[in-house]
Amino acid sequence: MPYIEVRGLTKKYGAALYALNHASFSVESGEWLAIIGPSGAGKSTLLNILGCLDTPTEGQVLIDGQDLAKLTAAERARFRAEKIGFVFQQYHLLPFLTALENLMLAQYLHSLADEAEAAAALGHVGLGDRVHHLPSQLSGGEQQRVCIARALINEPSLILADEPTGNLDEVNEAIVMSLFASLHRQGRTLVVVTHDPEIARTAERRLELHHGRLTEVSIQAHRDEELFDELLRAVWKVQEISAGRQVSTETLPEFSQSRATFHLLAAGGWVDLGEDQVALTPKGEQRALNIVRRHRLAERLFYDVFGLDASLLHESAHRIEGILNPEVADKICTFLNHPQTCPHGDPIPRGACCASPLTRA
Ligand code: ADP
Repeated sequence: MPYIEVRGLTKKYGAALYALNHASFSVESGEWLAIIGPSGAGKSTLLNILGCLDTPTEGQVLIDGQDLAKLTAAERARFRAEKIGFVFQQYHLLPFLTALENLMLAQYLHSLADEAEAAAALGHVGLGDRVHHLPSQLSGGEQQRVCIARALINEPSLILADEPTGNLDEVNEAIVMSLFASLHRQGRTLVVVTHDPEIARTAERRLELHHGRLTEVSIQAHRDEELFDELLRAVWKVQEISAGRQVSTETLPEFSQSRATFHLLAAGGWVDLGEDQVALTPKGEQRALNIVRRHRLAERLFYDVFGLDASLLHESAHRIEGILNPEVADKICTFLNHPQTCPHGDPIPRGACCASPLTRA
């Protein structure tokens, strides 16, 4: 049975305004779902209904087998307190309480305040040295991390987040997304509302709302890995042309389009980010080398063996490179007698199968 089951969910305001219009979908336990759509599409309405903060006009919501409509208001509040953690775009921290006190208040509302536990929860989101700061003394990203710690205080199995990175810069956006990724690894179910396609890409599945209707459900397994590959390849290419390790972000158009993803790459140890500079780490360099090698070998294969027109090489190679693991790439390399360059004349990085050590030819 899915963890969340939504059937024909409708929310009407007045006679004609459908904030939600017969939306149906389900979410498996441990799944990370992004809900995207333009402003006014019904995203917050949907999230509020899932979080027992609002009730539908029509339709049904089951969470963990429980039909929300069958609960009284008091039971719904209890259900929410036990199962759900909420993260909002606005932080909703009490300004006159420190980070620690804000958490202890949340604990008190759930059961009993426990200072050591609250301090540990702040430590888990990297704020161990900020416990006695007031919200005004914390950056936006730090305040959002306090909110995440607060949302986790009751150990919820379901985390609902409404534009959690809406007010953050890219670095904090990446930190908050990494926290969500670790919650996902812990097996919690995440539903994140966002209008930012880059944030939505980090989720496992994406659901699009337009005028209260569900218009698309797309599974995007491996999408971020593909984007990571693309960005590492782009850095490699600029490095190759300039023959320098540091690449100015100005010479990398991909940087401005995927800033937050570059910060995720940095968090994963694939690149080093400096002021206006990006460089591949040794690990990133090796991954980029493999990607470039696969691509150029695939181009060579299509050109030499299949006589494909040069204008079609890039696209065709792009389509198959994802399925070439290093062993298969080495086999193709040996089959082609260890070519030095791709059909466009760019060097093919040496592989384990080539006689010379790993160099860029
Ligand atoms: P989103 O979160 O995607 O921006 P919302 O769920 O906030 O969208 O809103 C969906 C639609 O419902 C909008 O047209 C909005 O104006 C309308 N709406 C939301 N709440 C109310 C309300 N309390 N009264 C009347 N209309 C509302």
